[in-house]
Amino acid sequence: MFERDDSRVIEPFREMLLSWYRDHQRDLPWRKTRDPYAVLVAEVLLHQTRQVGAEGLAPRASDLEALPGIGPYTAAAVASIAFGEPVAVVDGNVRRVLARIFAQADPHPRWLQETAQALLFQGDPGRWNQALMELGATVCTPRSPRCVLCPIALFCEGKDDAERYPASRVRRQRGVHAAALALRGQRGGFVLEKRNGQALGGLGGVPVR
Ligand code: SF4
Repeated sequence: MFERDDSRVIEPFREMLLSWYRDHQRDLPWRKTRDPYAVLVAEVLLHQTRQVGAEGLAPRASDLEALPGIGPYTAAAVASIAFGEPVAVVDGNVRRVLARIFAQADPHPRWLQETAQALLFQGDPGRWNQALMELGATVCTPRSPRCVLCPIALFCEGKDDAERYPASRVRRQRGVHAAALALRGQRGGFVLEKRNGQALGGLGGVPVR
């Protein structure tokens, strides 16, 4: 396992991933011009961020994240790919790749963001983010990852038991609950009460005993 701030290891790690991405990236429509994804996304989003764009400034990830419907992933992706902001993207693919490289069964979101940020190639953050996501989408897949073809296998601590990382999220078991409902009222109306507890807590409903 390498330390995420060990530049002697991070530099070759970055070079291998970026070299692989240059040669193996999928021929997706928005990669056919010099920066098509940036143009596409920026055109759409700048309509919503003209209070920022009007001043001639590129919106930062934090500006984008403040917009309705824009989450941390989208904000980081747009800011890095379209505007070159050095902010790491952590989507499901990146989470899986990082969990496997560092053999983390249950990586905390903060650890993921800090690790992704530490590994980020500052020279071209958009390209780096896309390379990491591409690896997760095409090589380091959830099932049967193709470790023999992986450009960063040398650095991967979890490759011998890759599907163990990250551990699948345990689904909360569904229970069967018996309850008696009381329907009370008069003249076409009936009594509702606010529920407590985990079963529809906070919602209104007929009294349950
Ligand atoms: S070596 Fe295997 S598990 Fe590790 S990053 Fe590459 S594809 Fe994923």
